Amino acid sequence: MRLTDDQMADIATSRGQSAATRRATVPALEAMLYQALPVLDHGFVRVIDYMGDDAAVVQAARVSYGRGTRKVSEDAGLIRYLMRHRHSTPFEMCEIKYHVKLPIFVARQWIRHRTANVNEISARYSILDREFYLPAPEQLAAQSSANRQGRGDLLEGDAALRVLDLLRADATLTYDHYAWMLNENNADPDRPGLSRELARMNLTLNTYTQWYWKTDLHNLFHFLSLRADAHAQYEIRVYAEAMMRTVDAWVPLASQAFRDYRLGAATLSAGMLAVVKRMLSGQAVTQPESGLNRREWTELMAVLDRPA
Ligand SMILES: Cc1cc2nc3c(=O)[nH]c(=O)nc-3n(C[C@H](O)[C@H](O)[C@H](O)COP(=O)(O)OP(=O)(O)OC[C@H]3O[C@@H](n4cnc5c(N)ncnc54)[C@H](O)[C@@H]3O)c2cc1C
Repeated sequence: MRLTDDQMADIATSRGQSAATRRATVPALEAMLYQALPVLDHGFVRVIDYMGDDAAVVQAARVSYGRGTRKVSEDAGLIRYLMRHRHSTPFEMCEIKYHVKLPIFVARQWIRHRTANVNEISARYSILDREFYLPAPEQLAAQSSANRQGRGDLLEGDAALRVLDLLRADATLTYDHYAWMLNENNADPDRPGLSRELARMNLTLNTYTQWYWKTDLHNLFHFLSLRADAHAQYEIRVYAEAMMRTVDAWVPLASQAFRDYRLGAATLSAGMLAVVKRMLSGQAVTQPESGLNRREWTELMAVLDRPA
């Protein structure tokens, strides 16, 4: 990730300012505020603003007049109860706003999460930076044969180099054509430039875009449960992992409850639960007579850390 001098100066100016407030603030998140957490080769996530804290969740759940009316252990217990029983609205009382820089193909997955407010950089108005995501060699994997949405073995040697060359060359070529079509500042006075809204259409999906993304804690946890999960594509998962660090700092009690009851938890169907009960009673259960199909069986054995 490379920020320009102007961008770093803007962040430093923002971080140099402070204001007295009666609202709840969280020192650990204040320490991270505005700073860009690097993600992928040119991307980042940074917290721009937030509202509420762990106490706000508790306060809303109790509809109380004051803050911190109980002991921390009682607050933690209530937050864990709310998370365990899938209460949602107390967590919606906290909000957070991020500035994210991400490749367009990641943005396309991310934008499917509709319960957020988004404002993306306008490539009708601005010119996108000449920055493309190129996977690190350890991410250059072949198509998985077992999982149609996943990756298999790593590409190595010449095959990996060739792929990286193609990715770099295609992105560079299309960006060169983009710049040529724009003809910014009338660099070539003998021809008109194409409008930005049209010139952008040939950029590759690994070109970086940026947006402001604001959501509440309940919907953020939903996003993170899907995107910080091992099944999520690596390129969006690393953003979710960076955001988890900000959530740990912001609402440590809720974050720990989320890690315990959602992120690190597993959901078992009634059939799976029946199999687990039979196993615990000492029965030897096999897939054909378990009542589970092969895929369900494999998923259950993975959860139980047993061979399928
Ligand atoms: C591993 C993975 C693979 C995926 N693969 C594909 C794929 O192949 N193709 C594809 O198209 N998508 C795919 N998706 C996207 C996925 O189907 C969802 O669109 C995305 O995860 C957003 O989830 P969401 O709707 O729950 O989130 P949000 O849009 O944030 O919504 C949160 C919740 O609000 C409620 N909600 C929001 N809007 C509505 C509405 N209009 N009506 C009713 N309820 C609403 C729902 O309960 C929803 O769960 C994939 C996602 C993941 C994590």
